[in-house]
Parts: sequence; C-alpha cells; structure tokens
Amino acid sequence: MSETRKLPELFGSMVFNEQTMKERLSAASYGAWKRCVTGGTALDLSTANEIAQAMKQWAVERGATHFTHWFQPMTGVTAEKHDSFIAPIGGGRVLMEFSGKELVRGEPDASSFPSGGLRATFEARGYTAWDPTSFAFIKEGSLCIPTAFCSYSGHALDKKTPLLRSMDEVSRQAVRILRLFGDTTTKRVIPQVGPEQEYFLIDRELYRKRQDLRLTGRTLFGAKPPRGQELDDHYYGAIRPRVAAYMRDLDESLWELGIFAKTKHNEVAPSQHEMAPIYTDANTACDQNQLTMEVMKKVAERHGLVCLLHEKPFAGFNGSGKHDNWSLSTDSGENLFKPGDTPGENARFLLFLAAFLKGVDDYQDFLRATVAFPGNDHRLGGLEAPPAILSVFLGDELTAVVNAIIHDTPMEASGKRQLRIGVDVLPAIPQDTTDRNRTSPMAFTGNKFEFRMLGSSQSISGPNIALNTIMAEELRQFADELEPAADFQRALNVLMKRVFTRHRRIIFNGNGYDEAWIREAEQRGLSNFTSAADALPMYTAGKNVELFVRHNIYTEEEIQARAEIHVENYAAVTAIEARTMADMIRHEILPAVSGYAAELCDRIARKDARGMPCEYETRTAKEISALTDALFGACERLERDLDDLPKDPTRAMVYSHDVIVRDMADARTCADRLELLTASDRWPFPTYTQLLFSV
Ligand code: ADP
Ligand code: MG
Repeated sequence: MSETRKLPELFGSMVFNEQTMKERLSAASYGAWKRCVTGGTALDLSTANEIAQAMKQWAVERGATHFTHWFQPMTGVTAEKHDSFIAPIGGGRVLMEFSGKELVRGEPDASSFPSGGLRATFEARGYTAWDPTSFAFIKEGSLCIPTAFCSYSGHALDKKTPLLRSMDEVSRQAVRILRLFGDTTTKRVIPQVGPEQEYFLIDRELYRKRQDLRLTGRTLFGAKPPRGQELDDHYYGAIRPRVAAYMRDLDESLWELGIFAKTKHNEVAPSQHEMAPIYTDANTACDQNQLTMEVMKKVAERHGLVCLLHEKPFAGFNGSGKHDNWSLSTDSGENLFKPGDTPGENARFLLFLAAFLKGVDDYQDFLRATVAFPGNDHRLGGLEAPPAILSVFLGDELTAVVNAIIHDTPMEASGKRQLRIGVDVLPAIPQDTTDRNRTSPMAFTGNKFEFRMLGSSQSISGPNIALNTIMAEELRQFADELEPAADFQRALNVLMKRVFTRHRRIIFNGNGYDEAWIREAEQRGLSNFTSAADALPMYTAGKNVELFVRHNIYTEEEIQARAEIHVENYAAVTAIEARTMADMIRHEILPAVSGYAAELCDRIARKDARGMPCEYETRTAKEISALTDALFGACERLERDLDDLPKDPTRAMVYSHDVIVRDMADARTCADRLELLTASDRWPFPTYTQLLFSV
C-alpha cells in the first residue's frame, strides 16, 4: 500500500458501502435497498439485478475477478467459495458476468460443515442468501458478499441468521417499552457492539519449529522463563519498530475494508497487543470481527510474524480475550444505556438497566455457556481474566441508586436533590469512575456493558445473540406488565423495586480475582462453572431452550444442533492437543533428553577415568534419566487413555476434561522440568524466552 494515500481516500475504499451505492445505483434501486435495510422489505429481482451489475462493475474496476458468498458456519470461522465472473461467450472470448440471482442466492457445496444433525445428506447442500444489511467488500481479488447460510428446510446453519433474528426481536420488545415512555417515532432499536481484540505476535521462524503452535495454536510445553510479565513494563510500553510496522499495515488493511481500527497498545504479557474498532451495529461488528481476525493473520505473514489468536498460547502469561462492548441505540442514535438529563430519560435508563441485571441473573448459565470451549478454559479464572462466575459491575454511584430504589430511601444526589424515580434527575455518572474494575466479567462502563469473558479466537456472534435475546425476553416481560397498567408511574416504581430487590445478588463491585469472592458468590447462589465441560450442558437446559424458541431465535432442533457441535468440538480439540503432545514427546523430547543424558554419561566416564569430580554431570544425568522415564510413562498413559475415549459425545467431553486434561498436565510437568535441565542447544524446540522476547 502506498505511504501517501490519505485516510479519507483509503477508508472503506474496498467496500461497496452506502455512499458507493448512492453514487452507482438509480434512485429507485437505492431507495429499494434502503427500504429493505431499514424496513425489512424484500428486494425484487430487477433491483437485485441492478445492484449486482453495479457491484460487479465497481469490483472489476478494482481488479476483482471472482465473487464469493462469504458466510459463517457453526464452526465459528468464516467460509467462502469463489466463482469467477467470467462466462464464456464462444470464439474463445469471455464476458464478465454476475446476475441478481447470483448476488441474492448461492449454493455452496458445503456439506462438510458441521450441522449438528440438522442436515440429512439428501439436503446436504444448503444455500446462502445475501444479507443486504452488511456491505460487500473486496478481499484479495474477490468480491465478498456477506450471506446467511440455511438448509433447504429453512434451518439456520450459521451464526449470522440467529444474530439477525435476535436483533429484530430485541428491537421489537425495546420499541414497546419506548412507546410507554411516550416515544412515538423510534422504529428500530439496534444493538451496538465494539469488540476489543487481543492477540500475540511471534516470530514466524520460531513458530515453524513448534509443532504444538502449528497444530493447536498454543504451546503444550514450556518452562517458566527467568523473566515473565512481573515488571509490567510491556503494558502500554513503547511499541517496537517491527510491531509498529505490523500495526500500521494492519490499520491500513482494515481501513480499506471499512473497519475503523482505532486504538492500539501493548497488553500486559510480552508480545501481546490489542486492537479495538469503533463500535457499530451488532451484525456489522460480527462480520468485521471475523474479517479482522483473518486480516490480522494475513498481515502478520507479510512481516515474518505469526499472529496467535488462541486464548492461552503461553501458560503462566496472560491469556487473550475479547471484550464485547454492548449497548442499545435507537434508530436516531440515542443510547438507551446512557443516564439522561430529564426524569423521564432516567426512569427509562433505569428500566433498561433493571432488564439487563435481571437477564444476566436469570441466564448466567447460558451466558457462561456461550464462552465455553477448551481454549477459554485455560484463561477464565487465570491471570488477568475474569472468573467463571457471572456478575455485573455497576460502580458505587449506580449501586447507590439501585439501593435507594430497593429501600425506598430518597438519596442525596449530586446537587443535593432527592432522587425519586421519574421525579428527579440522576446524578451524572461519569464514565471514568465506573470503568476501572478490570476483574469483572460484565462491567457497566458509563453507557454500555463490557462482556469480558469472551475468548480471543471465538466468533462474537454467540454471546451477542444471547445478550440480545435475553434482553428481549426481559423487556417483553416488563412491557407485558406495564402496558395494561392504569397508573404507569406507579407500576414502574413497583416493578423496578421488585426487580432490583430480587436480582441485587448479581451486582458485584469488588475484586473478582479474590478467592473470597468465589465463596461469597456461592453464598449468593450464583453459578460457577469452572470448565467448559461443566458449562456446555447448560446450553440445552429447559429454560434456555424455551427462551430461544419463544423468541424464534432458534428452533429446538437448531439449539440442540449447536450444543452438539460445541460438545463434539470439546473432545475433538482436546484429542488433537493430546496427540500432538504425545507426538512431540516421542519424536522430539524423549530422543533429545535421552541423547543428552547419554552424552553426560560419556563425560562422566571420561572424567572419572582421570579422577576428576563430576558432581554436576552425575546428578543432572540421574535426574534427567528419572524424568525421562516418568515422561515416557506419562506419555504411554496419555496414549492409552486416548484409546479409551468414549464414543458418546457428552461422555467423551467429560472424559476428556477429567482424564485427558489431567494426563496432559502430568506429562507437561515432567517435560518442563526436563527443559530446565537440558543444555539449550539440545532442547528440540524454541523456549518461552525465545518465543516471547524476540519480536
Ligand atoms: P477500554 O480498553 O477501556 O475498554 P477501548 O477504548 O479500548 O476501552 O474500547 C472500548 C470499545 O467499546 C471500543 O470498541 C468502542 O468503540 C466501544 N464502545 C464505545 N461506546 C460504545 C457503545 N455505546 N456501545 C458499544 N460499544 C461501545
Ligand atoms: Mg475493554
């Protein structure tokens, strides 16, 4: 990319966005598209044809030769199947072609994606359908069209369809509440999402020498290096030139795709960094985060680096998360989680807050399940990551307001005014005072909630589907209660007092890393699913299935299918890690340490013959030999236990967690000790010091 291109010209230059549509479509077609996006009306074929023509023209001018329906199967990654624009027209000549039909609907032969049993083989193909609310873009010579992926029987096979459904539903219920407050104009309420993305950058040459990183995305071995992250000097520290060059390139690549990458700083662990985009609607945010993860990896390649998105690439160092900043905004841009200037606005704010608190309390288990997968197990409850217990941080000021409502005590607001809901003005809640609790899994940060339990590699769609749907359910209950009330003001006060009283237990402003919190949470009756294997069964708990079915987000089959995929994934990922570990032990570690011990023995023999002392060699050789056998034993046990993996997916998950993960920990303990005893040049792969302090 040229150094001279200016941001305004660069930004979104590879996106067929609203501005471009306005310029390139007839007024009628542009209007039809706009109505489709804002009002949910269908596009007719002639409009689709015109949009397809304009899109193709625009893409070809920018060097595109192919198009693809870009979609998000239930694996959590993105998928694409490229077709060329080229159509033969005889005489060896070709025509660049792309019709409305091809824009609107595609048929990827995607029968190998997991469907959790939703797709019998006879209908294995499924189809993709254009999502006109997310802009098409050009990536590596292909016009990418964001699409939903469904089976012919209409089941959602992807992560976009239910997200769009949940956005519609929370909008519908939120508008009902707004009407009660006299808002007659808002047509839509849109969830807004800003995902902060953490990642590690390491040198590619070193990465290539680690089979565990290549096959599993994380290190399965690695002794604690002499220097860890105890100095905290990396956090917000000066960015090294190689990383700075990467970040500049990444920013520009994201800007081209219309992704407003805004902040960049170093994170707590060495080699760890973060990128945050400016927030946007949940659907776009989700598409863009998928794209961001892909671009991060690609750009790293250009710089001789590898971008690690795993939640816990290095034991003993901070893991990588993804903070999902979430709020609700009206179609005129009003944030419903912003305390307002008038009594009415404040009452509305408190009602949405009450709905959120109740929702997190009612559906703690489901929210936990949306972030449950093996990679995140190594992170949650670990260094600098929230515990596995859901709670909401509100900050002292807002908690005081909630308490005042619970106890009916008029509170001294700033400016010495008494606070009564619907009567007085809330004290201003400055964002800065609320956000400095980094230990909360769900923090109110002034005008949004920050869900911090997400793992860095996961799609943000699951957690946002959950937040939207849970919010929709609570708002539905509130609207059902308030709509028929003769005295709205009174009914509102009764409802808020009741809800805050019943759900106060979910508010926790203290230190989430504290051991004492785990005991207190238990006393409060909050759930604590320490591992994904414990949390995943909650996916299909009766009340959760009922929630999603009631709001038409998932059918019962769809939610069962998703649970099944997550459960199967747990055992599959664990088995890959275990086999990689066994492979590295047998082919790399054991030969290296046994050879090194033999070498020491030779030296001992030679020294002994000359009557020289050989304390160091003798003790080291002995310890290495003992550990070598222990490691060999641990490896054999791991392999044996892998052979006994149950067939049933749920049993396989539990077994993997109880048996395989334990075996792996035992093997690692031996191997990491061996690393410390072995000469650097005999250790078969790069160490933590080399991996973490070389970029
Ligand atoms: P911090 O690191 O303190 O959490 P950042 O500035 O790194 O803060 O990230 C905040 C993220 O929250 C950004 O992606 C930002 O766009 C997003 N955000 C800000 N306001 C809102 C909002 N009202 N709704 C959703 N996301 C928001
Ligand atoms: Mg944050």
